[in-house]
Amino acid sequence: MNQICLVEDEQKVSAFIRKGLEEQGYGVKIADDGGMARELFKQAQFDLFILDVMLPDMSGVDLCRHVRETDSEVPILMLTALNQVHDKVLGLKAGADDYLVKPFHFSELLARIEALLRRNKNRAGNHQLTFGDLKLDTWSKTAQRAGKEIALTAKEYQLLELFLRNPNKILSREYIAEQVWEIGFDTGTNFIDVYVNYLRKKVEKDFKNKLIHTVIGMGYILKQANR
Ligand code: CA
Repeated sequence: MNQICLVEDEQKVSAFIRKGLEEQGYGVKIADDGGMARELFKQAQFDLFILDVMLPDMSGVDLCRHVRETDSEVPILMLTALNQVHDKVLGLKAGADDYLVKPFHFSELLARIEALLRRNKNRAGNHQLTFGDLKLDTWSKTAQRAGKEIALTAKEYQLLELFLRNPNKILSREYIAEQVWEIGFDTGTNFIDVYVNYLRKKVEKDFKNKLIHTVIGMGYILKQANR
């Protein structure tokens, strides 16, 4: 069952949406304001968010930004009042996927929700990154090679994910430092090389073909050895 988080302070509206969605087989949790919504995010996973723009304690746009900071994939539908064009633009910029102008027909809300969930389901296949026999699950943050789990530290995982997102492309040490450690690269240290070597040992031991190659003077590349 898809779980939907609805953040709306007008109880008539939230009751109406909840009733309709529950009849369609969705689970619905309601927050009356931004503070309550933030508590809900911490406690549960949702498949979709419906956020009203005008909330008593904060803007739905800021709330949208907050959701996006922790979940880049979950669909977000904003509810705006008529003529709040400015809010629509802000909402979309803050990471909302769609918006609906109040008042609306329930059938339209339902159609939008179904479209967003469908789109997200298609994307959900993308939580697996593969390269040859190497497989990463970006949700559980786990890696496998030829079906065998590889135990990685958080940084090793992030490093490997970066390689899998950029196959057959040379990644400079500067770029790796920025992406994985979010720091500028200090040429006086070799920590990138140290980490790449840790990762190589884990990913390549027990296997003949090497995947992470050094490109002298430039950085590293994930590629099949014979190419
Ligand atoms: Ca409102």
